[in-house]
Amino acid sequence: MGTSNYQIALLKGDGIGPEVIEAAMTVLQRAGSVHGFNLYYQNVDAGAQYYQRTGESISAASMESIGKADAVLLGAMGLPNVRKPDGTEIAPQIDIREHYKLFASLRPAKLFKGVSGPLRTESVDMLVIRETTEGLFAGRHDRLEPSDSSVSDRMTITRETCEKLFELAFAQARLRRRQGSPGHVTLFDKANVLRSNAFMRKIFDEVAARHPDIGADRIYIDAGSMMMVMNPARFDVIVTENVFGDIVSEIAAGIVGGLGVAPSADVSKEHAVFQPCHGTAPDIAGKGIANPVATILSAAMMLDWIGERHSDTSCLNAAASIRTATARVLESGPRTRDLAGTASSAEVSVAIAAAVL
Ligand code: ATP
Repeated sequence: MGTSNYQIALLKGDGIGPEVIEAAMTVLQRAGSVHGFNLYYQNVDAGAQYYQRTGESISAASMESIGKADAVLLGAMGLPNVRKPDGTEIAPQIDIREHYKLFASLRPAKLFKGVSGPLRTESVDMLVIRETTEGLFAGRHDRLEPSDSSVSDRMTITRETCEKLFELAFAQARLRRRQGSPGHVTLFDKANVLRSNAFMRKIFDEVAARHPDIGADRIYIDAGSMMMVMNPARFDVIVTENVFGDIVSEIAAGIVGGLGVAPSADVSKEHAVFQPCHGTAPDIAGKGIANPVATILSAAMMLDWIGERHSDTSCLNAAASIRTATARVLESGPRTRDLAGTASSAEVSVAIAAAVL
């Protein structure tokens, strides 16, 4: 079989974005040459600096063109001092999420040996799936009458999005089971109080019944948040609505050592954007000391996505190999300062690339 070729739209962005993307490319280059695939990059200018130059955070042409790529790899975007006239920060990553209806955010959280988390346990390996288009964000663009006495937000849950979301959660649990996880999905909700959440739970039950080989349970969000901290090993895949997921995924990142090691993917059935959970970290930008692990693990998720869609085992094997190499380097070093090391981003990425077999 010939070598496969894939097109990657690369949005390096602002702050440490270009540094962590550079580091991930070092690892991807090695993974491609060992496992036999080529990635062709299309650099897309977008973000806060681009906004300063042009008055827009991403051009309409770029927005269209990234949809033609096999995947999008994004560094980080936005700078605290670059704001739109209404005072909000530049966030083309949110515009992309809305444009391509990326309804789910996948945020794996694994505690690696050599990284000390705040808990006593050593076994944390979970995937939080956050719905990103509705839930408690559903009314974000609602027109509101100005009021000084009361303001409401809206929680909307639709059958269509829930079915897609839960099918994705069960598919991810099945994929993870192939890699040694238990194969289990937990819904976090507030079905005892919120009617929208009782409806969400009903649809979860319907979808769970279609996947009898995968374990399923439902926990109220308050109890579930406590259990994540008290007994994180209990969880494999957690799925939940937008705002609950926003909060819970940060708890998950916190218990595995913080932003430097937290990857993510925003996906629909057709499109996907892979990016670290962290922002542009202006306080350390330009120094070459940012932890590139979150972006390298995001790049591994990207290869999984491409491999699954194209039934390409070279990408799937490369993704597994990048994860193993990253685990090895986190255990033995070199590590960056946020993980109590002294290495530069480049030293870490070269070490991980060398460990990709
Ligand atoms: P945003 O709102 O864009 O998500 P933020 O202000 O919440 O950004 P980050 O830019 O992610 O936050 O930075 C938060 C803190 O974490 C900063 O002190 C930053 O230096 C640190 N940090 C973030 N990413 C990394 C990284 N990859 N390596 C080391 N430190 C990081």
